[in-house]
Amino acid sequence: MPVHSIQLLPGLRCFRDTCNVYLIQDGDQAVAVDFGSGRWLRALPRFGIRKLAHVFLTHHHPDQCAGLLAKRTWPFPIHAPAGEANFLSPEKVTAYWKARCQSGPCPPSYSVLKRGVEGIQFDMGGFGDLFWGARRLRFIHTPGHGANALSIIITHHGKQIVFCGDAAHAGAAIWQPYHLEWDHWTGAGALAAWEGVLRLSNLGMDLLCPSHGPVVADQPRAMLKRLADKLLRFYRVKGHICAGETDDYLEPSFLECGARQVLPHLFQFGCNSYLLLSGAGESFVVDPYAADLSQVDALLKELGRPRITAAAATHYHSDHSDGLPLVKQKYGAKTWLHPWVALPLRKIEALKRPWLPLKPIRPDALWPERGVWRWNEYEFRIAPFPGQTRWHCAFMTCVDGRRVLFGGDNFQPSSRWNATGGFCAFNGSRFREGFMRSARLVLRWRPDLMATGHGTYYRFHASQFRKIIAWAERAESATRSLCPSGSLRRDYHLF
Ligand SMILES: [Zn+2]
Ligand SMILES: [Zn+2]
Repeated sequence: MPVHSIQLLPGLRCFRDTCNVYLIQDGDQAVAVDFGSGRWLRALPRFGIRKLAHVFLTHHHPDQCAGLLAKRTWPFPIHAPAGEANFLSPEKVTAYWKARCQSGPCPPSYSVLKRGVEGIQFDMGGFGDLFWGARRLRFIHTPGHGANALSIIITHHGKQIVFCGDAAHAGAAIWQPYHLEWDHWTGAGALAAWEGVLRLSNLGMDLLCPSHGPVVADQPRAMLKRLADKLLRFYRVKGHICAGETDDYLEPSFLECGARQVLPHLFQFGCNSYLLLSGAGESFVVDPYAADLSQVDALLKELGRPRITAAAATHYHSDHSDGLPLVKQKYGAKTWLHPWVALPLRKIEALKRPWLPLKPIRPDALWPERGVWRWNEYEFRIAPFPGQTRWHCAFMTCVDGRRVLFGGDNFQPSSRWNATGGFCAFNGSRFREGFMRSARLVLRWRPDLMATGHGTYYRFHASQFRKIIAWAERAESATRSLCPSGSLRRDYHLF
C-alpha cells in the first residue's frame, strides 16, 4: 500500500504515515521531518528525489520513528533533539525498559521504542540550528510530548514553515494529551507545554505542520494562542482542588512506640496504615503498607496484644496494600477487599497499572460493592470511591462516637499535594465519574473525620467537598478541551 501524500507547496509534501512525515525537496535532494514507518521512502523516486540528505526527528515517540528499526544503518544522517538519547539510544532504551515496571510511578515517557536505534545524532539544540546546504533549519524548544521535544522552522519558497511535532494539533488541541502528565499530580508538563506553545505563537509563520492531523494554514498563531490558554487552564486544574480551604488537622496523642492515637480506639502508624481497636480484644488494619509493618509488633504490645483479625485496603496502590499478605501470614488476619480494589490486585500480570504490588493479592472475602459490613461492634458503610484511581473504595464507621471515613488517596487536607493524590490518565483517574461522584458521597455520608492516606486525618468540612465538585467539572472540561476528538475516552484515558 503506497503511503498517501499531499503537496502543501511546491517541494513540500506531507505523507500520512504513522505520523505526518514532511518532505522538503530541493532539486533531486530532500530532507524529512520525522520518519514514521518509513514506507514513504519508496515513493521518493516518483517525485524525482535521488537522495534523502537528512532525517530530523521532533521527538522520540514510536509513531515518529519506529520504521528506523527496520535497518541497522541508513544512508542518511538521523538527527534528534538533545536529551532524546534517553529514549532512543540502544543502551538507554534497554535501561528504560529494565527500570519500567508495573509497580513503579509515572515513567519518564509513556511511549518508547522496544529497542533503540543505532547512530542517531542528538545534535538538535533547543535554540540552535543545522544547515542543509545553505538552508538553515532552526529549532525551538517546545516541550510537552516529552521534555526535549522541538519544533523545526524552515523558510521554503519565501514562506515560513513550522514543523511543531506534537506540541500542537489543529483545533487548538494536543495529540494524546496524557503525555503532558510528567508525573502523577503536578502540572509541570502542562506548564512547560504552555511556555513552548506561547513561544511558538509569537513567531510569524505561514504554515504550521503538526505531527498528527491536518496542517494549519489559516491563522496558525491565533490557534496557538487559543491552545496556550487551554494549556494554562489544564495547568490550573492540576493545581489546588478546593482553593481557600484550611487544613483542619486533628491533633493526635503519641504512643511510646511512635504510633499516633487519633481517637481512643484508632491509631495511625508508619506512612499509610491505621489500626482500629475493638472492645473484643481484636484489631483491624487498614491500608497495611509493608514498609510500615515493622512497627506493628511494638504497637500491638503497647495496646495489650489485641489479635489482628481483619485487614483491608482503600485502593490497590502498593503503598496501601502490599502488607496484606504479611498481616495475614504473620497475624492470621482475614483479608477483606472491595470488589473494585480486588480486581487489579488479583490479576497484576494481566493489567498494566501503575503502583501495583509485586505479587497478586487474593482476598479471603469480598465486601459488597455497596452496603454494610460488620466487624465486632463496628458497622461499616461501604461504597466505591473512584478518584485518584478508579479502583478505590471508601468505608465509614463510628469510632468513639465520631464518624470516621477511611478515604485513601483521593482527598487530602488543603496543605498536602494540592489537597489530592492527584489526577492523571496513567493512574486511571476520573472526573465526573470519579472525584465528583466521590465528593458527593462524602457530602451524603457527612463524616466527622477523614482518615486518609499518607498520615493525614482531618475534620470534615462540607465546603471542601462542594468546591471539589465544582473543580471536577472544570477539570473534566479543561482536559477534554485538549482532546483532538473532543472525547476523553478516545484521547485521554489510558485505562
Ligand atoms: Zn508524540
Ligand atoms: Zn494511591
